[in-house]
Amino acid sequence: PLISEDDKIQRLTGAYNDIDVSKVTLFKDLPLSEYTKKGLSENKYYKMTEIQRQTIAFSLQGCDILGAAKTGSGKTLAFLIPALERLYCKKWSRDLDNVGILIITPTRELAYQIFETLRKVGVHHNFSAGLIIGGKDLKFERKRMDQCSIVICTPGRLLQHMDENPLFDCTNLQMLVLDEADRCLDLGFQQTLNSIIENLPPQRQTLLFSATQTTSVKDLARLSLKNPKFISVHEKE
Ligand code: ADP
Ligand code: MG
Repeated sequence: PLISEDDKIQRLTGAYNDIDVSKVTLFKDLPLSEYTKKGLSENKYYKMTEIQRQTIAFSLQGCDILGAAKTGSGKTLAFLIPALERLYCKKWSRDLDNVGILIITPTRELAYQIFETLRKVGVHHNFSAGLIIGGKDLKFERKRMDQCSIVICTPGRLLQHMDENPLFDCTNLQMLVLDEADRCLDLGFQQTLNSIIENLPPQRQTLLFSATQTTSVKDLARLSLKNPKFISVHEKE
C-alpha cells in the first residue's frame, strides 16, 4: 500500500480536533477508519442522527460524555463508532491485548442488541467481542473472556467475572460505556457498579448514554468523570 497503517491512523487522529460539528451530517464526513465506514455504508447508515452528530466528534477526541436522547434516537452507534475507532487507532490486537472497551447495559436483551449492531458495523475490523450476560455457564464465558477486545455485559455478570476469573484483565481498558446509564446507576445496581468501578483503571474515557439527563453529581463523582460534555438532544417541534 502507498499509505502505511500508521500514516492513516495519524491522519485520522490529527483530524479529530478539526471536525466542525455544525457542518457534518454524514458518517462519511467524519475521520473514520475505512473499516468502520464500510461497515456503516453496507448497513445503510449514511446520515447521522442528532445524538450521533453531537457526540461522536467529542468522543473521538477523548472527552467524557453524558449523552441524553430519547429511545430510538441511535445511541448505540454513538458509542460503538468511537469504541471501534479507539481500538483501531491503538492498533489493538485480538491476540495480544485484553479488554479495551467495556460496555455495560442493564438487561440481557439490550446487551444482545448492542452485540448484534457491533457485529454488523464492526465486521471489517479484526477485533473480538464477547457477550457476558449469564445464561451460559461461567466456564464457557470465562475461557472467551480473556480474548475479548470489546466486552458487552450486564452489571451482575460482569462483577462475577471480575471476582472469580483470574483471566479477566481490565488494566488496559480504554473506554467504559454505560448504556441506559440512569438505569445502570440507580439503586438496584449501586453496589454492583461501585465494585466494578473500583476494578477499573481511572485514566479511561467514560461515555454515559441514556434517555434522560438525570445523572446526579454524586454519580459523576463516583465515575470520576473528567470535564464531561453534557449533550442533550430534544426533538424539534
Ligand atoms: P437508542 O439506543 O437511542 O434507543 P438505537 O441505537 O437502538 O437507539 O437505534 C434505534 C434504531 O435506529 C435502530 O434500528 C438503528 O439501526 C437505527 N439507527 C441508528 N442510527 C441510525 C442512522 N444514523 N441512520 C439510520 N438508522 C439509524
Ligand atoms: Mg439504546
